[in-house]
Amino acid sequence: MLDFFTPHLLHCLTFVEILEYVAGIKGSEVVKVDRFYPSSKVCSECDTINENLELKDRTWICSHCNTTQDLNAAINIQRVGASTLGLGNVRPANTEAVSV
Ligand SMILES: [Zn+2]
Repeated sequence: MLDFFTPHLLHCLTFVEILEYVAGIKGSEVVKVDRFYPSSKVCSECDTINENLELKDRTWICSHCNTTQDLNAAINIQRVGASTLGLGNVRPANTEAVSV
């Protein structure tokens, strides 16, 4: 499969194009999430938005449910992607959740 990607072709393709090609071969689908979706700021447990989160902050504790948010963005992106595909028991992205 990866023999398809010559050095010249790799130079021309974007990461997303390569990801979509490999996903197509494996029967998977690539779902793009809105680049402005606040995946790091939204609590993955209760949807509270941490408006005070700064770029340097790697973890935070939700003031509403006291959950430590270390994998928060990854969980939120997985949920948005899964809900876009209509998969599993996931809640839709809610960017109008409670702000703190
Ligand atoms: Zn929370």
